[in-house]
Amino acid sequence: MADKETEQMSNKDEQDILKSTQTIIRKALEKLGYSKEVFELLKEPMRMITVKIPVRMDDGSVKVFKGFRAQHNDAVGPTKGGIRFHPNVTEKEVSALSIWMSLKCGIVDLPYGGGKGGIICDPRNMSFREVERLSRGYVRAISQFVGPTKDIPAPDVFTNSQIMAWMMDEYSKIDEFNSPGFITGKPLVLGGSHGRESATAKGVTICIREAARKKGIDLKGARVVVQGFGNAGSYLSKFLSDAGAKVIGISDVHGGLYDPDGLDINYLLDRRDSFGTVTNLFKDTITNKELLELDCDILVPAAIENQITEENAPNIKAKIIVEAANGPTTLKATEILTRRGILIVPDVLASAGGVTVSYFEWVQNNQGYYWSEEEIEEKLEAVMVKAFNNVYETAVNRQVDMRLAAYMVGVRKMAEASKFRGWV
Ligand code: GLU
Repeated sequence: MADKETEQMSNKDEQDILKSTQTIIRKALEKLGYSKEVFELLKEPMRMITVKIPVRMDDGSVKVFKGFRAQHNDAVGPTKGGIRFHPNVTEKEVSALSIWMSLKCGIVDLPYGGGKGGIICDPRNMSFREVERLSRGYVRAISQFVGPTKDIPAPDVFTNSQIMAWMMDEYSKIDEFNSPGFITGKPLVLGGSHGRESATAKGVTICIREAARKKGIDLKGARVVVQGFGNAGSYLSKFLSDAGAKVIGISDVHGGLYDPDGLDINYLLDRRDSFGTVTNLFKDTITNKELLELDCDILVPAAIENQITEENAPNIKAKIIVEAANGPTTLKATEILTRRGILIVPDVLASAGGVTVSYFEWVQNNQGYYWSEEEIEEKLEAVMVKAFNNVYETAVNRQVDMRLAAYMVGVRKMAEASKFRGWV
């Protein structure tokens, strides 16, 4: 994708995730032969809901939180995507994330468009009951615009199955029916699905296996570095070490741990808190910057956006980068890494396992018949392998990098559906 447009992007533009997403969407649509109007339609969410959520805090005061829900495009079907609780949530970030959800759904071929929600808050500094009141307040605020056939939320950064349970309960009261299909990522006893909690990591693991095969790397004994020890990063480290890989580095917001002989993942999982923090228990740590540049075979950024930039891309030693986080690599870094022959499995493909099992959960809720863990695993495996090969072959056949290939696969269905509906 080495072209003028990317070269001329300033560093600020580059790290503006909405702008860089739009740049690739435009290229993908051009490559596929769609008109400018299709880009105009898809460059931003069709709908952005902004809400204020007053919450009675434990000390009796009232705090007013701000929340968003973005619905990118519902030509293919209802919109779908998680809700994050984080102090850095912005309208722009939620917009970009909703577009990424559309792309993910397109890549794994689900009957959904993309959506995303967020509340500006820090659940690390809130009590259990305050988080419950905030979750219920958010659902009351957006209830008219969401629902099992309109827009189906799910977990994301710092939200979990308990929060999904409160949200489902609140929606069910408003709807006057038991509505498990309103939200996914629920606890099993409330209509959740087997395998949902570890689904993102399972999907990433399948992508790592397929990418390693393409590069002729044996996963047994392969040296892996995982940045981030949240839901995806922690499960992933476990799956990889169970598969015989050597996880030599992990990190969280405080720093990283490194052991060239492989870290004791079970011990770290045992000591990790529910927000994915573990390195604060150790004295001998490395920085996140050092972690990314470690000598390894496979690097998995599973933390936050804009971690691999044009500054550190030339120093990355991994042969494969599999993006479990959303947006960890900038466009310029993608160019540098592709030029250096490093195989990138982009976020919109690698992290699509979560929404895939969310889809299975929604289908089970709709049909009222539930599948076993083995059935879910088998279905996820088939979907991810097909998606990986589809993107890989598109990159080879169309001679584009893996990110552009993934966008081309991801955008096609919603562009086509928008055309058939007569929108463009
Ligand atoms: N938040 C997850 C993601 O970014 C899952 C979304 C879902 O399950 O709907 O893919």
